[in-house]
Amino acid sequence: MPKNLTEYNIREKFLKKLIDIGVIMCFLGMIEQIVVQPCIKSIMLMVLLFVSLIIGYILSSTLNRTDLAEIVIGVAAIYVVFPLMYFTNGGITGGAPVWFVLGMFYIICIFDGIEMYLFLILAILDDIVVYLIGYKYPKLIIPIKSDALAVLDSMFAIVFIGIFLGMIMKFQLKSYSKAREVAIYQKNETEKISASRSTFFANMSHEIRTPINTIIGLDEMILRDDTISDEVAENAAVIQNAGIMLLSLVNDILDFSQIENKKMRIYEVSYNTQEMFSELISVIRNRIESKGLAFYVNIERTLPSVMRGDPKRIKQVLLNILVNAAKYTKEGSVTLTANAESISDKRCKITVSVADTGIGIKKEVIDRIFDSFSRADGSEINRIEGTGLGLSICKQLMDLMGGEITVDSIYTKGSVFSIVLEQDIIDGSPIGNIDFLARKEGEHTKFKHLFEAPDVRVLVVDDNDASRMVTVKLLRGTKVQIDEANSALEALNLTCQKYYNIILLDYMMPEINGVEALQKIKQQENGLCRGSQVLLMTAEGERNVINDIMQEGFDGYIEKPLEGNRLEASIMSHIPNEFLEYCIDTHYVSEKSLAGDMQEKADVLKKRLIITTDCVCDIPIEEAKSMSVKQVYQYINTPGGRFKDTVEIGIDNISDMILNDRKKISVSAVSVEDYEDFFATRLTEAKELIHISVAMNFGKSYYNASNAAKCFGSVNVVNSGQVSCGMRIVLKYAAQKLSEGATAKEVITTINSIQGRIKAEFLLDSIEPFYENGFVGKRKKIIFEALNLHPILVVKRSSLHIRSFMVGDFEKARVRFVKRTVKKLKGRPISDINISHSGIPVKEQELIAAIIEKNVNCDDFVIEKSSVTNACISGPGTIGIATYIDKQK
Ligand code: ADP
Repeated sequence: MPKNLTEYNIREKFLKKLIDIGVIMCFLGMIEQIVVQPCIKSIMLMVLLFVSLIIGYILSSTLNRTDLAEIVIGVAAIYVVFPLMYFTNGGITGGAPVWFVLGMFYIICIFDGIEMYLFLILAILDDIVVYLIGYKYPKLIIPIKSDALAVLDSMFAIVFIGIFLGMIMKFQLKSYSKAREVAIYQKNETEKISASRSTFFANMSHEIRTPINTIIGLDEMILRDDTISDEVAENAAVIQNAGIMLLSLVNDILDFSQIENKKMRIYEVSYNTQEMFSELISVIRNRIESKGLAFYVNIERTLPSVMRGDPKRIKQVLLNILVNAAKYTKEGSVTLTANAESISDKRCKITVSVADTGIGIKKEVIDRIFDSFSRADGSEINRIEGTGLGLSICKQLMDLMGGEITVDSIYTKGSVFSIVLEQDIIDGSPIGNIDFLARKEGEHTKFKHLFEAPDVRVLVVDDNDASRMVTVKLLRGTKVQIDEANSALEALNLTCQKYYNIILLDYMMPEINGVEALQKIKQQENGLCRGSQVLLMTAEGERNVINDIMQEGFDGYIEKPLEGNRLEASIMSHIPNEFLEYCIDTHYVSEKSLAGDMQEKADVLKKRLIITTDCVCDIPIEEAKSMSVKQVYQYINTPGGRFKDTVEIGIDNISDMILNDRKKISVSAVSVEDYEDFFATRLTEAKELIHISVAMNFGKSYYNASNAAKCFGSVNVVNSGQVSCGMRIVLKYAAQKLSEGATAKEVITTINSIQGRIKAEFLLDSIEPFYENGFVGKRKKIIFEALNLHPILVVKRSSLHIRSFMVGDFEKARVRFVKRTVKKLKGRPISDINISHSGIPVKEQELIAAIIEKNVNCDDFVIEKSSVTNACISGPGTIGIATYIDKQK
């Protein structure tokens, strides 16, 4: 379908213009040809050019194939019409050379990249060939009848093409300036939209916060009431949570929009470190403890007491990670730790960490959690409310403050979020204890006031009746004397009559707003409150606005919605000590600090690296212990219950059932989730793991373990290439290497280098269990069973293959199998022989041991029972022999 004009892009428009001008030029050229060179060939060439332009027009306008149109016109003109015109129109004496110039101009304007270079090279070659032919065979050139006509032809060509090129250039310049105008217009429009969006957000924030203030504040009053029924208390708690959630959503959206618009600013002020942490802790404590989590605080007492930075933003970041810690932790604890490292007398580096014992974060998503709207996947996360904005805002705030936020997490076990930030030291004296956190264990659901100050007078000025009521009610428990004013005028009336220690002024008030009211109070003639502490109460979301307002001379500010402890904490810091009676227990902090210290010590005690493996490695538990190797166990399902392989059940307990009723026993493979759980637990003991897995193609263990390892940054899954007794040899040498202090990389290199030199063979009574487990096909099963063959399996390329078989009585076959192996080893210095069996008589075991010891020169010989899993997979009576010759031997 043809497009309407506005739908064309710049390239299409350019071609259209070129065709329009080209058609006119062609027409004029034809007339010129009739005058100058009235030969049929010349005229035909002009017609050909004309036709190619028309085809180009149809292709681009009607069929939307501008690309094809460009090629058709280009090829026809540059490679056909212009060269031939050279010969029909007097060679270099006519106007043809100027057309060659036009051809190159066309190519450079129309095509791009490799296409342009290709067409240009072809055009240059074409021109050279034409010139050479004309030079070598001048007879091929039809001369122009007279010099005068030749001059005319050349002149026409120059004029036509000059005008043509000029017009095209003009069109380009016009298009460019038009595009520029459009871009400037769009930029202005975008700026206007963005400005109105910011205003909208600021207004919306005020409009939303005011009612949220009322909801949360009054709801808190209900919660504080001891006489309400459990159901009312429960409902009020739900309202409280929903209100807080809504508020944090509004805050996040606002901050996000500010960051997006590059309007977020950092305001550095001197701040009291203790006050900052106290406020932070009082805001979050309830939230953490009401979930039944322990909250440990470990703030270094030597932190400088006054620093310079943006305490508001630091608190915002820390609050966000503390809220997350509470959100993503079901049981256990949240620990807040802070310490400082001095850089110079005037500067220090503070590190604050929040550690939780929550769900942890998978390694594959850990890099994404600082991106906007990014949340980890999984049903557990989906059940927890969130937008995925918080951490992205934290990251951007930390960047703006020149700091860093990092995370370290063990999936399913917990996370540690840390911020590191340099700050100027204003007063380097230590903060000492943070005193007023106090709340005893078990008391967490009951509100406790921070202080009482019955001699302190407070004036609350707010035009919104509901908001004012909330403030008054929230302060009532502190026993301060409160007066109310619903406008600045009424307040000014009161400040003439009474002294107030503290005046709480709302910002958005009609007639006289908070800032104007402050000026009036401070300059009031006969005013009694010119020296009072005036605190601003605001529901402005725009924190930049708050900072600007604060320049006006307020002593502090409190953001709405008000929350009991936060309001009390803000006011408390403006009341002289002699008026205050604390309602807190100061021992609380030191007890908790101790717990925090212990957690830190536990971290230091973690091992550098440990080796783990699957229980099918057939290594005795005691030996695994002495090697410090941890095993993940499979579960054996029997009619009598479900048991942990090797630990809760051994082949002695179950060999009869395997023999007679094998179908009733099944093995639960270790699932990805089981591995995740196992790795997570092990990572609480060590910083890094090497998991030596059973041969890659033997069941799903290797794949499941590898998938689980993706959730952690420090789990290396290594394919042992072996099964059963072969794995024990791999483990032994890996553990030896580790005990010599090798790195993970060196241990892995050892594993990879020895596994190829281990030879392992297994003799099975029957092929049936192997067939049942899907390791061999039906045809082989039928043949083996019909002839009563005992298969011999070998480990090759990380899986088991049938190599040969034995016949006759199985017990005798086992002894022959051992003798045969011994024969092959005779005279060679063997490092290890490992035999594992799924239940053979003790006498036979002794016989086998004697054969080995008598005939083989071996450093380490072990005969051991297999795991139940291996017994189920290979059947009862199976025997496996793994041998290893060390390279040095
Ligand atoms: P939200 O919590 O609203 O989803 P955030 O940006 O605060 O958004 O966090 C992003 C994601 O990071 C969360 O969705 C969650 O998957 C993960 N996350 C953050 N903190 C923790 C934590 N303490 N424990 C586990 N996962 C966390």
